[in-house]
Amino acid sequence: MLDLMISPQSIEAVKDIISKGSKFVILAHRNPDGDAVGSTTALALFLRSLGKVADIILPNSFPDFLAWLPAAADIVNAECEKERSLELIRDADALFCLDFNALSRIGELAGAVEHSNAPRVLVDHHPLPEDVFEVQISHPAACSTSELVFRLIYHIGTLEALTKEMAESVYTGMMTDTGNFAYASNRKDIYIIISCLIAAGIDKDIIYRRVFYNYTVNRLKLVGFMMYDKLRVMPAYNAALLTLSYKEMRRFNVSKGDTEGVVNMPLQIKGVRFVCFFREEVPGKINVSLRSVDDFPCNLVAAEFFAGGGHKNASGGEVYGTMEYATERFRTALAKYKELLTK
Ligand code: 5GP
Ligand code: MN
Repeated sequence: MLDLMISPQSIEAVKDIISKGSKFVILAHRNPDGDAVGSTTALALFLRSLGKVADIILPNSFPDFLAWLPAAADIVNAECEKERSLELIRDADALFCLDFNALSRIGELAGAVEHSNAPRVLVDHHPLPEDVFEVQISHPAACSTSELVFRLIYHIGTLEALTKEMAESVYTGMMTDTGNFAYASNRKDIYIIISCLIAAGIDKDIIYRRVFYNYTVNRLKLVGFMMYDKLRVMPAYNAALLTLSYKEMRRFNVSKGDTEGVVNMPLQIKGVRFVCFFREEVPGKINVSLRSVDDFPCNLVAAEFFAGGGHKNASGGEVYGTMEYATERFRTALAKYKELLTK
């Protein structure tokens, strides 16, 4: 039914690790998104259904609009519970690394994961994984890590093993990483998987509303302000820039999740193919989000100019310095990539 993606050897290796161990730790990247929380909770629920202990550790907090997810309530936030997180990692029989492929993406947990003697199992869809994982399930063609977790459940368990709660987590990850199936979503398997999730009892319309119709008033006011005042379109480069300074973050009392997805909005403008969003999270440290369409590789810009990386059409990084400095770097990037942007 589904095309083969994860190799039978990898499935066997994961099966073996699960059957030999009793307690597992599941990790995802810093600033967790819907796919990070969806994939980790789905896998934890699956391992628990097999009678195993499975703890989820995230480097920092996740947005409120994901709090309804099954098993989200028992996620360990390493920023609040560092000692406990390190102890869980130390005691784990295996470490499942989901939705990231470089240890730098898990911040202060990186050392403990690197020095652990337990096998590290990568399940991820970002290109070019680091060579630190004993089992490497790395498929950039997958729409999300949650799709890969579905495939693991499907191959290791059976479709009957997939509960409604697991299906809700998987769907949330697939839906958020594809912008509700608006990009990276042309493979037929995605829709075969969705039909399995619906058969498992999910209500996809309710999940959509829980995630996308769950904003604060603040968020809408912030978006209004940004689109009116802070958006700069550069037609000569088919590009757009959004900035949000620390002072503005404070003025609008921005909290986690309030800026989620804002970077995609300028792509709605006719002709715009590349968007950059600078968010000064603490004075002098600017978080960078990049989005593009079609063949423009924004991950190359992220790596070259913003010490980051990611997918071809969705990537990120950071800049230390002023907003003016960051903007200057963006302009330099545009000049360098002008030909690709305007072809
Ligand atoms: P976002 O803009 O949603 O924060 O990030 C979009 C994507 O960019 C993420 O899914 C991730 O793949 C990638 N990304 C974001 N920040 C970084 C970073 O600092 N380093 C790397 N390697 N990738 C990043
Ligand atoms: Mn993802």
